[in-house]
Amino acid sequence: DGIDNRNLEDAVYAFGFGKKCSYVKTFGAGHINETYAVYMPGEEKDELSYVLQRVNRNVFKDPAGVMDNIFGVTEYLRNVIRKEGGDPDRETLSYIKTKSGSTYFEDSEGEPWRCYNFIPDSVCYQLAESPEQFYQSGSSFGHFLKQLSDYPVDRLNETIPDFHNTVKRFEAFQVALKRDLKNRAATCRPEIQFVLDREKDCAVLVDQQEAGTLPLRVTHNDTKLNNILFDGKTGKGLCIIDLDTIMPGLAANDFGDSIRFGAATAEEDERDLNKMHFDIGLYEVYVKGYLEETKDVLTQEEIESLPWGARLMTLECGIRFLADYLQGDTYFKTDYPEHNLVRARTQFRLVDEMEQQFEQMKEIVRKYACIDIF
Ligand code: ADP
Ligand code: MG
Ligand code: MG
Repeated sequence: DGIDNRNLEDAVYAFGFGKKCSYVKTFGAGHINETYAVYMPGEEKDELSYVLQRVNRNVFKDPAGVMDNIFGVTEYLRNVIRKEGGDPDRETLSYIKTKSGSTYFEDSEGEPWRCYNFIPDSVCYQLAESPEQFYQSGSSFGHFLKQLSDYPVDRLNETIPDFHNTVKRFEAFQVALKRDLKNRAATCRPEIQFVLDREKDCAVLVDQQEAGTLPLRVTHNDTKLNNILFDGKTGKGLCIIDLDTIMPGLAANDFGDSIRFGAATAEEDERDLNKMHFDIGLYEVYVKGYLEETKDVLTQEEIESLPWGARLMTLECGIRFLADYLQGDTYFKTDYPEHNLVRARTQFRLVDEMEQQFEQMKEIVRKYACIDIF
């Protein structure tokens, strides 16, 4: 009914819905994948039951690796949730295999499709409406880490190599600066200097990981508020979604990326820097939720690495924006010529404020991890 897309129809059949499903329509407003809602006949009316997605092959060059990670993790989570006495059909995504038992379907043009259950009675927020919601977010991502703390990380594919290797990000920046393809370096000397002054910082977490001081964990790598479904009734965090970037990584990376966007007082591309601040109150709220879940799972070194994670994920993000500005906006979408520079500036403003309040950031972590301040 109304499906005019051959490949979509093929996918609907490949996942075994075929004639059983009532109808399919486009769903959500994702920028990366193409998403459809699959409605099945319910007792009274048709119900949105599944989400069918065509995965963007330009972003995810190894769809088999991505799907392999997702299946491994979600099936493991189902068992953990059962042991916790929870509902595996609501507290994690359940991915569905094709009729022939494959983790995804490749259409006639070689595009990958995958399918999972829709979670009803859930709510998703773009921005925290209250500190309580940000606390819930820390708690949910902390719980996610805890649930996966015994997952064999070496089973995961590194689907985007060196994603948070801040040292390599710095090196890429140096290359962009040296080439200065668009002659833009002259327009951003202070920002360039800001990065160059922090070369050593870039190695802080990478070095500890390479030395084996910080372990690799299952990381989500897109720990934004809108990748949590909240329970429509209780308002509590329910399910972590958007699992495409699950990879081995550092706990501090996921933690830090949440802080980077969630404890900022303005949008990433706010031009008026006076509006952009690091809100240490929001940081504290997130730390509380996160450490309540993870303090007995993380090592002492990992706990101590969390404030660095916030600083370095923010610095790394700013470095990437500035590098992209220097190389002519080839990676991030821009609406005007200085867009990436504006973004870099907001990130550096946050880094600067985090650096000034770094001792307090550490104290807050110690407080909620119950580590004595000596
Ligand atoms: P993207 O990679 O484009 O961010 P997501 O997987 O995060 O894609 O999905 C986009 C939005 O669709 C989510 O923010 C959420 O609102 C909604 N959504 C995704 N999966 C589900 C699901 N299983 N149940 C309910 N809503 C969902
Ligand atoms: Mg998402
Ligand atoms: Mg995504």
